[in-house]
Amino acid sequence: MSATSSQVNSESTAYRSALQVIAGVEPRVAAAIGAELADQRESLKLIASENYASPAVLLAMGNWFSDKYAEGTIGRRFYAGCRNVDTVEALAAEHARELFGAPHAYVQPHSGIDANLVAFWAVLAHRIEAPALERAKARQVNDLSEQDWFELRRELGNQRMLGMSLDAGGHLTHGFRPNISGKMFDQRSYGTDPETGLLDYDAVRRTAQEFRPLILVAGYSAYPRLINFRIMREIADEVGATFMVDMAHFAGLVAGKVLTGDFDPVPHAHIVTTTTHKSLRGPRGGMVLCHEDLAEQVDRGCPMVLGGPLPHVMAAKAVALAEARQPEFADYAQRIVDNAQALAEGLNKRGATLVTGGTDNHLVLLDVSGYGLTGRQAEAALLDGGIVTNRNSVPQDPNGAWYTSGIRLGTPALTTRGLGVAEMDEVAALIDAVLRETKPGVTAQGKASKAQHVLDESVASRVAAQAADLLANHPLYPSIDLG
Ligand SMILES: *Cc1c(COP(=O)(O)O)cnc(C)c1O
Repeated sequence: MSATSSQVNSESTAYRSALQVIAGVEPRVAAAIGAELADQRESLKLIASENYASPAVLLAMGNWFSDKYAEGTIGRRFYAGCRNVDTVEALAAEHARELFGAPHAYVQPHSGIDANLVAFWAVLAHRIEAPALERAKARQVNDLSEQDWFELRRELGNQRMLGMSLDAGGHLTHGFRPNISGKMFDQRSYGTDPETGLLDYDAVRRTAQEFRPLILVAGYSAYPRLINFRIMREIADEVGATFMVDMAHFAGLVAGKVLTGDFDPVPHAHIVTTTTHKSLRGPRGGMVLCHEDLAEQVDRGCPMVLGGPLPHVMAAKAVALAEARQPEFADYAQRIVDNAQALAEGLNKRGATLVTGGTDNHLVLLDVSGYGLTGRQAEAALLDGGIVTNRNSVPQDPNGAWYTSGIRLGTPALTTRGLGVAEMDEVAALIDAVLRETKPGVTAQGKASKAQHVLDESVASRVAAQAADLLANHPLYPSIDLG
């Protein structure tokens, strides 16, 4: 991130004035907003799902579009007075279609979870509800008899989904019990090869042929390699499944054309969901891309499962997607991967254990059991050194999903700040130094704790100072000076 002096003046003035207005009503909120900027500037953020949206994206969200109700779709609203909402929703959808080469884009989902719910119900409506209506010669669900409705509801609730297991890097919304998707679907998962840590397509095929899911889901939040979506689509076709890809984590790499051919989900999937705030670097939100046959059902997302659209966020999505269509974004996306690979190499050469041995995308999964730590201890120790990460299970994790044995590291945020491959080696050195010096703590009963850690204060402060030095060379939001 660099900034011209006129940008510094105009963006600083915009934010100073905005904070003054807020402080006039609730000064503690204005203070917290300022403090958040300071915190974000000071932390070495390796959270793989986070990023820093541009001031243009942020400003597009803070305005009177927030006041509008706009249920329905572009040009077909249940409320009058939506012409400006139509403009921004149409712009966001157009940018999304052009950027990803998708026939249809639905930009209303409020989050990734919501986008997945829209996709699930669109597939259920297309494949289960529509044929049932046709059999009953009914135009819509309200025309069904009580008996037909009862049977349709049972059928909708009795479908199968196959997705990636959680400990291989899959996501809770891909049919796991704590999430609504697991209560809606009979779910099975595919994992990764225990030897290589790589996705085993033959195993996916075997499970798909035996289980015959309605929906085959691909996508992850903690898998450091690429998925061949052409092969996954072939498997889906063999068993008559709808192929859905949740690219929440790696949408920025698709947008930036780092993932192309077999690794670009859009040409291969029937339906693609994403968040807009991770590697794509937009506002917090979700999005669905699909072909025309599913478009009508997808567009019913609100009020099917979504509350009224957030026009201010759709405006910000339009801005972020316009940014992602610029050539600089492709350069950014490539640097994300270069940085992740440099980080992996830096850790490898210091003797760390990485799941799959490295990375092809924006994230690295570090197995911290070699340091004698749980993920929880490693996460807390790294935070003592000013390094923000999150713990994550590794395949067949002996410590379960709470303590875990892994740390997930992602480079989208630091890449936005402008850090490069040389600095990733320094980041790897800091991580390795902290973890080497950290010891597991003991419980009050004198037993080895999975939660407590012991790290010498002098090591923590030395690493924190080095992390601060690295960041000082790459100021965050250089165009914003709150004074
Ligand atoms: C982050 C993520 C989601 C959920 O996104 P939210 O915006 O937090 O609801 C869904 N799927 C995958 C694969 C994700 O990584």
